[in-house]
Parts: sequence; C-alpha cells; structure tokens
Amino acid sequence: MSCLFCRIIRKELGSEVAYEDEDTLAFKDIHPRAPVHLLLVPKVHFNSLKDDKAEEAAKELMAVAKKIAQERNLAGYKLVFNVGREAGQTIEHLHLHLLSGGPSELTI
Ligand code: 5GP
Ligand code: ZN
Repeated sequence: MSCLFCRIIRKELGSEVAYEDEDTLAFKDIHPRAPVHLLLVPKVHFNSLKDDKAEEAAKELMAVAKKIAQERNLAGYKLVFNVGREAGQTIEHLHLHLLSGGPSELTI
C-alpha cells in the first residue's frame, strides 16, 4: 500500500517517533504549527473518521494523546481530527493532531 502514514508505520520512511505501542504510533509533524505538534495514527489503516468502525480507533488515539500529555506534563493542548478534504485533511490515513505550547511551569 502506498499510503504515506502506513509507510511511516512500517518504518519504510523515517519519522521522529514520540510514542509507540501495539496499536498506535505518534510522531512529530514535519511542518509543526506549535512547539509540540504530534500526529497520532492507528497502525491499522482507515481513510478517515468517516470509515466504518473508525470511531473505535479515534477513541484509542484520544486515550494515547491524553497519556502523552500527562507524561510530558503539557499545560494544555488541542486535539484535532481533520475529516475529509473539505476540512483540510491532506493525508488519507486517520490521524489525530496533538498541539501544545509545551510543559506546564506550575508543577513542582
Ligand atoms: P492533515 O492536513 O491531513 O490533517 O494533516 C497531515 C499532516 O501530515 C500535516 O500537518 C503535514 O505537515 C504532515 N505531514 C505530511 N507529510 C509528512 C511526512 O512525510 N512526515 C511527517 N512527519 N509529517 C507529514
Ligand atoms: Zn495508511
């Protein structure tokens, strides 16, 4: 399959991996729009959230995003799914953008 994110998942293409488990890979966006900008992708291919059963994978991505945010002590963060070309989705592999200004300075 020639899907770009599937190729990143298979490590045929390089990426800066931030997190990996059996079902999910998180890597740095190549054009970051925030100090922290990760893309979270399910290892199983879905074109987008519009696909049947994709909401299960999306739920898992949100759980992983929360885990990464907690581990990195992110003060606050945005989670974005672009669903469909009309909404700005350019890569047809379900992905969640995790955007943040960075860690909280309030923790001791
Ligand atoms: P979309 O616009 O589809 O929601 O998001 C796709 C994202 O993938 C964009 O933010 C874009 O910068 C990122 N991207 C595109 N090609 C690559 C790549 O080869 N490597 C990485 N790490 N990110 C990519
Ligand atoms: Zn794919």
